[in-house]
Amino acid sequence: MLATRNGKHDSATVAADALVGLPLIRQWIAYDTTSRESNLALIEWSQRYLESFGALSTLTFDDERRKANLFATLPARDGNTTVDGIVLSGHTDVVPVDGQPWDTPPFEATLKESRLYGRGTADMKSFSAIGLAFVPEFVRRGLARPLHFALSYDEEVGCIGVRRLIADIVAKGWKPAGSIVGEPTGMQLVVAHKGKMSWRCRVRGHEAHSSLTPQGVNAVEIACAIVGYIGRRAGQFREATRHDDAYDVPYSTPHVGIIRGGTALNIVPRDCWFDFEIRHLPFDDPRAFFADVEAFAATLVPPMKAVDPETYIAFDQLSASPGFDTRDDCEIIGIGQSCNGTHDFRKVSFASEAALFHEAAIPSVLCGPGHIEQAHQPNEWVSLEQLARCEAFMRRLADHICVA
Ligand SMILES: [Zn+2]
Repeated sequence: MLATRNGKHDSATVAADALVGLPLIRQWIAYDTTSRESNLALIEWSQRYLESFGALSTLTFDDERRKANLFATLPARDGNTTVDGIVLSGHTDVVPVDGQPWDTPPFEATLKESRLYGRGTADMKSFSAIGLAFVPEFVRRGLARPLHFALSYDEEVGCIGVRRLIADIVAKGWKPAGSIVGEPTGMQLVVAHKGKMSWRCRVRGHEAHSSLTPQGVNAVEIACAIVGYIGRRAGQFREATRHDDAYDVPYSTPHVGIIRGGTALNIVPRDCWFDFEIRHLPFDDPRAFFADVEAFAATLVPPMKAVDPETYIAFDQLSASPGFDTRDDCEIIGIGQSCNGTHDFRKVSFASEAALFHEAAIPSVLCGPGHIEQAHQPNEWVSLEQLARCEAFMRRLADHICVA
């Protein structure tokens, strides 16, 4: 039976002592690796652990050297470390627990009635810890191809850390065959997710007494005209013929989230700004959407300048995270399907590091224990049943990539 997205149908029959990964999960949860904190203690522990099994490793640091990514490679039996490997990828950081009502200590894995509670149990320390727990088995059986661990920092604040790790792989000319990113997908295989870009639009108008509106340039009204245009574009995406029904929302979605402007009703407002985004399907170009918004805005400028040449409409890009859509014929999809024992797959709307691996020509899938609904929540949990599925996945992965 497939787990549902909220996990309610997870079976409760898995015994904790049947899980080989539980001790390492407990160890990982005990490190407070909230994104603002250093992750070095966890990284150094993992590096020592992997090196004790013969892994070669590289750390890539942030500018302050307070945080690091670990890229570690268990060599294939023939000594190959650089080509055709499989990457197990996970971020080490977690979101803050500040202000959240927790019933258990968040940085202590607590087992209650077939659920393991703790910050990062779902998002996403369990996957990485289980992968590490299987290292003795991978090594004992002998690897037919390299196995890499990519453990990153600062994913939760914009997939920042992993960019340096990937740049290092690319610079070295290493060519892994694919990566499995263990974000919580309920152990369902995810082969694509949407990308997201966001911008701020700033409108500078011209103040005037509201009894003299023709002498002013109303920044709020100009901004609202652009917001209206974005809304019309959203309708066009919804009506477009090219959808992808594998997503819960099968088209790209522009959206305005914040708007601020004006100071008093009797003043023609001088300033207004708003923030907008597009969550786009991998085949829709967010820059083309943005170019359309800019072009529309440009048509509003000449009458503004006619009143006051100092007026303007400006845009700042706030963020960009790419989407990805791994081609059906990529080996990593086949590996993911056979490790999961099903041909089912999904596409999701949340962003992840998988897109950055994909951009670096490392085909990627997402598959990890737990559910995105429990991520970032107080009393975050993962079911033992999900952990058991993840361990079954690792065992089948060993069947694939090991000699014996
Ligand atoms: Zn995550």
